[in-house]
Amino acid sequence: MTGIPVQVKDLICTKGILTTCSSRMLENYVPVYDATVSEKLFGQGAVLLGKGNMDEFAMGSSCENSAFFPTHNPWDLNRVPGGSSGGAAASVAADETIVALGSDTGGSIRQPASLCGVVGLKPTYGRVSRYGLVAFASSLDQIGPVGKDVMDCAITLNAIAGYDSRDSTSLNLPSTDFTAGLTGDIKGVRIGIPREYFVEGMEPGVRSAVETAIKELEGLGASVEPVSLPTTEYALACYYIIAPSECSANLARYDGVKFGYSYQDTPDMWKAMETTRQLGFGPEVKRRIMLGTYALSAGYYDAYYLKAQQVRTLIRQDFDRVFEQVDALVTPTSPVVAFPLGEKMADPLQMYLIDVCTLPINIAGLPAMSVPCGFSEGLPVGMQLIGPHLSEERLLNMAYAYE
Ligand code: GLN
Repeated sequence: MTGIPVQVKDLICTKGILTTCSSRMLENYVPVYDATVSEKLFGQGAVLLGKGNMDEFAMGSSCENSAFFPTHNPWDLNRVPGGSSGGAAASVAADETIVALGSDTGGSIRQPASLCGVVGLKPTYGRVSRYGLVAFASSLDQIGPVGKDVMDCAITLNAIAGYDSRDSTSLNLPSTDFTAGLTGDIKGVRIGIPREYFVEGMEPGVRSAVETAIKELEGLGASVEPVSLPTTEYALACYYIIAPSECSANLARYDGVKFGYSYQDTPDMWKAMETTRQLGFGPEVKRRIMLGTYALSAGYYDAYYLKAQQVRTLIRQDFDRVFEQVDALVTPTSPVVAFPLGEKMADPLQMYLIDVCTLPINIAGLPAMSVPCGFSEGLPVGMQLIGPHLSEERLLNMAYAYE
């Protein structure tokens, strides 16, 4: 990594350098320590070019929830770059950096990579340390690379992956060279096409670009068969119980005492805490905290949170079953291409629906990546490759063969 310029999403701690999470709450927060991934990158000689803009606390799909400014899509400046790692994808697409680190809780690396026409990889849960990653939903969050091509992502993954005793969910595995398996040979790889991912409302241009890419993978020697993941339709609801619940617990730490912004203009402690959170958090973050607090509250825990955890198990089992049959799955990353700034801001549900193809992967803790696969009306389309746990090498090689 010596001399390689990197951008780091602004929710990954960088010692002595502002780490704002694109929130007023942490506008002046300067960490006293490096995240494990920062320590690893800089320890290997990488050069920090800047911190990447994002949706506040990684909640969003367009980068418009940043408390400071929205990032624009380099392919069309009137459109969003996707989110929440919009800064990462836009800056790689615009040649402002070689690689970037993003984080992915429900699609935040893959969806912006797709909308900006670059490569993004969400590793298996536990592959990359979350120490020093400001938590959104801890059981779903994972850091990963965004790059111009597959090799850049593999090299960056090499630099950041590995066991870390400071993250209790870190996997203790022998280290892997993710570039070693990039042969471009995918003969005999069995690819499943889950019909549930070709959702209603998907843009026809996205569908045809992904279908053409699947034919090309077949031409490279892979076999393709339809498969079914019947629990897919419950993934969105399941995610929007689990992620806000974990968010409401994680964000309880911003009380004006321990971190960041603090409203002081009152002698009343409760008033100080309340006003700190009222002024420090933006509307989407407040919405998530309220949803999560409700789902976790005594009378509703069984009906919502517990039920969502049960559905989570079913979703995971669905993938386990399908991966007995095929080596990988191919789907669109996003049902739509980059949309105009402001278009979906008034309707949170429309914004949530954009992640239908990416959220189930976080629920199951699987690795997945988005690879550019053509254009629809002049805007980039991404294809998503999904594999069983710890199959990053296979996914990277499939993507490498394809690009
Ligand atoms: N868009 C999804 C959300 O708002 C996913 C975000 C993410 O992966 N960080 O929760």
